Formats: sequence, C-alpha cells, structure tokens
Amino acid sequence: MKLLEGKPLSRSILETLPGRITELEKARGSKPALAVINYFENSPSAVYVKRKIKMCEKLGIACKVFSPDEKEGQKGLLNLLSSLGRNPDFDAVMVERPLPAGFDDLSFWDAIPAEKDVDALSSLNMGRLFTGKSIKDAESGLFFSPCTALAVIRIMKHYGIDPSGKKITVVGRSSVIGKPVSHMLTCLDATVTLCHSRTREIREHLRGAEIIVLAIGRAKWLKKEMAGENQTIIDVGTNLDESGKMCGDADFDDLKETAGAMTPVPGGVGPVTLACLLEASVRAAENFLKKR
Ligand code: NAP
Repeated sequence: MKLLEGKPLSRSILETLPGRITELEKARGSKPALAVINYFENSPSAVYVKRKIKMCEKLGIACKVFSPDEKEGQKGLLNLLSSLGRNPDFDAVMVERPLPAGFDDLSFWDAIPAEKDVDALSSLNMGRLFTGKSIKDAESGLFFSPCTALAVIRIMKHYGIDPSGKKITVVGRSSVIGKPVSHMLTCLDATVTLCHSRTREIREHLRGAEIIVLAIGRAKWLKKEMAGENQTIIDVGTNLDESGKMCGDADFDDLKETAGAMTPVPGGVGPVTLACLLEASVRAAENFLKKR
C-alpha cells in the first residue's frame, strides 16, 4: 500500500510563503492577519486550531482565535462575522466546524466579505466555484475555494493520481467538503457518485470505485469488507477514537493490506488543508494591498 502523506506537499506550499509575507510587511507595515472562530475546545477542530496558531507564529502571520459563547446563539456568530468583515485589521476569516447544534442560519456565511472568505463559505465564492466548468481559476486563486476540498485535489495531483475517466465515490455531502470535492473531481473528468447517510447499498458504490474520498466524521467507519481491492482512499475525516487518539473515517490498520494507496490520519489531508488556508490568507492580504 502506498502511503499518501500530506506533509511533503504541505511543506512545499508553505515554503513559498515567508518571502511573500516579508514583502507584505515591508509594503504595508503589518503582517497578514487571520481570524479563526472556534466553538469547541474538545473536538478535532481544537487540535487544528493549535496547529494553525503554531504555524502562523512560525511563518509570521498574525492569528487571533475567537471562541464565542454558544449561549449568544446564531446572532452572536452573525455579529462577530460582520464585525470581523468590517475590521481592516483582519485580511482573512475562517470558521472551524462543527458549529453548535441548531446553528443552521446560512445567512452568516454571507457576513464574511468574499475577499476575506479564505475557506469559501460565502455564496459568492461557492457560486464562482460551482458555475465553473474547470477548476483552473480555483486552483490559481482567482477566488477562494473550500480549503479541504482543494487539499484533496492537490494531494491527488502531487501523487500523480489522475481522476480523469475514473469512477470515484465520495462519501459525505457537506457544503465544505463532499459537494465541492465532487464538483472539482467532475470538472477533472471523473465520474463521481456522491453518497450520504441515506444512500442505499452504499457498499456497492464503495466496492465499485477506483478512488474513494471519505468525509463523514465517523471514526474508523470504512472497513476492509466494505471496500474493494487496490483502491485509492483519500480520508478527510478527523475523529477521536475511543482512547481519544485522532483517527480518520477509514480503519487504516484494517485496510492497509488491501488498499492500493491511502492517506494517513493524522498526517494526510489535514496538513495540506492548513497549508492551503495559510496560502489563501497571504493571498487575501496581497489582494488588499493591490487594491489600496
Ligand atoms: P458534516 O457536515 O457533518 O457532514 C457529514 C456528511 O457525512 C453528511 O453528508 C452525512 O450525510 C454523511 N454521513 C454521516 N454518516 C454517514 C454514514 N454512516 N454513511 C454515509 N454518509 C454519512 O461533516 P464535514 O464538515 O463535511 O466533515 C466531515 C469530516 O471531515 C469530519 O470528520 C471533519 O472533522 C473532517 N474535516 C477534516 C478536515 C481536514 O483538513 N482533514 C477539514 C475539515 C473537516 P447526511 O447529509 O445524509 O447527513
């Protein structure tokens, strides 16, 4: 089984940033600045927040984490996003998932101005992605795209996995991963089956695929008996197992003898997502500078 590690790719993306950050600081007298909103301290998102802070410190990006009080409800999130949107001290804004139960007011995503919306939550960035027939503009950064979906595509490219003509099963239909990654893969000429919790005979879709992309948030859900042989498995899931250790949606140990290639968790999609996010944050700051 070939291990599709994310770290080498993440390093090569991050290596391009220090020079750009220095130029930005010289030109405008301040570092690029990212605002991160995170509700939960005991979730995989908190692990990613810590990594963001550490990497931002290393690179010279100002990163501020906001932990709103759940009791303030959806209004609290909407107000926070609106004020960060107006605040010129921040170039980029992103929101960690999950959100508190019942936070389903989609209007808060449009409170983030598209030019600060580095994880593409707003309808403007989403619309730009979904109306395109190609993902060249998304890849070149003409607008912002969901970082995790983009990370999946970049991992495939990095390892020479061409989606063209392939049967790909994506499991999970969220607007941040499942849907955008399915669209991106379709643009790259794959034939995509998008599965979710109501999909009947999901095993048939899993077994018949050449590539599986998992984004459901269920620890070690995919087992060997559900999958085929020699498949490429891109595991986006980040979960905590029964002993509190981070694990993916695939049972890595169970699948490692039969899969052809697989991303590890941790160390697969996560580091590339982080690199894509920080790259997008630097780009947001550069775009603001150009507009001055
Ligand atoms: P989400 O919004 O909760 O969506 C989960 C999706 O999975 C839903 O579409 C759901 O179906 C589907 N699903 C749940 N259980 C299923 C099952 N047993 N069989 C088939 N489909 C099932 O989650 P998300 O935000 O997309 O995140 C997914 C995972 O990715 C999480 O583990 C999250 O922590 C992780 N993540 C990783 C990164 C990274 O960089 N690696 C970044 C972001 C998120 P329904 O629509 O029918 O409910």
